[in-house]
Amino acid sequence: MGEIISGKVLSKEVREEVRLEVEALKAQYGAVPHLVVILVGEDPASQSYVKAKHRGCLKAGMLSTVDRRDADISEEELLAVIKQYNDDDEVHGILVQLPVPKHIDEDKVIDAIDISKDVDGFHPLNVAYMHLGRKCILPATPKGIMTMLESKNIELKGKDAIIIGRSNIVGKPAAMLLMGKHATVTIAHSRTQNLKEKCLQADIIIAAVGRANTVTADMVKEGAVIIDVGVNRTAEGKLVGDVDFEGCKDKASYITPVPGGVGPMTITSLLQNTIECFKRILGA
Ligand code: NAP
Repeated sequence: MGEIISGKVLSKEVREEVRLEVEALKAQYGAVPHLVVILVGEDPASQSYVKAKHRGCLKAGMLSTVDRRDADISEEELLAVIKQYNDDDEVHGILVQLPVPKHIDEDKVIDAIDISKDVDGFHPLNVAYMHLGRKCILPATPKGIMTMLESKNIELKGKDAIIIGRSNIVGKPAAMLLMGKHATVTIAHSRTQNLKEKCLQADIIIAAVGRANTVTADMVKEGAVIIDVGVNRTAEGKLVGDVDFEGCKDKASYITPVPGGVGPMTITSLLQNTIECFKRILGA
């Protein structure tokens, strides 16, 4: 059986490093990183993500503010709230939990966040810097994936990688980061033909679709590395990824589980990003 890359275990280690760094920053600057998460409305999934981010910050010794707003807040009001935090020197990271209600333009919200406080790395300038290979805040989920691969010293140079999914928050940035490490990257999506054949060529498969059993054993080359980003609920209410874990685990050299894989790493990366923003703002 392939080795499991546990996001739970790795997260614990990295979060301890984060906690120690926060302690050191506190000793040096008399301040700790402060993350503000703005939550609009009461979407249950968003609420649970925000809760996990809040807890993660507090456990790492950071300050965390969750600013809850009613679902009917106007776009103008929300932009004003963001501006208020942009102007607040005691706030180092700002995140608006997505999705926002339909009457609010998501792009305007992302654009409104001061790039120096953009802990999600979604601001167009941050995205541009990432594409240029410049130093920037990386989106949390792809960053977490890279940390997982690095933790096992998985060679990426010259390897064939396929990323299934082309979203702005996972698929596209993950492709850029893998290419930056000299992998040859294929990006697949809902219109991709012959997905199975393409997957069978890959040394690394990253599944970020949102559909259970998108990757099955017959699509996996012996010894491939499988990273499962997907989060899906079965009819029985069980949490599963996009990959048939049981079917694929014997063929893979490394595989991530769901739950306890990429999920915890996403929040860990967010904590690292908050420190990064703090350090940049303070010129550390
Ligand atoms: P998304 O924006 O919905 O994108 C899904 C992508 O999958 C799209 O590019 C879509 O193609 C592609 N796709 C859909 N059906 C497909 C198929 N049959 N074959 C190949 N590609 C297909 O989703 P996302 O935000 O990237 O998230 C993907 C999954 O990861 C979700 O389950 C989400 O919950 C999960 N997620 C987990 C974390 C974490 O921390 N664990 C973080 C973020 C997301 P088109 O572009 O052609 O529509």
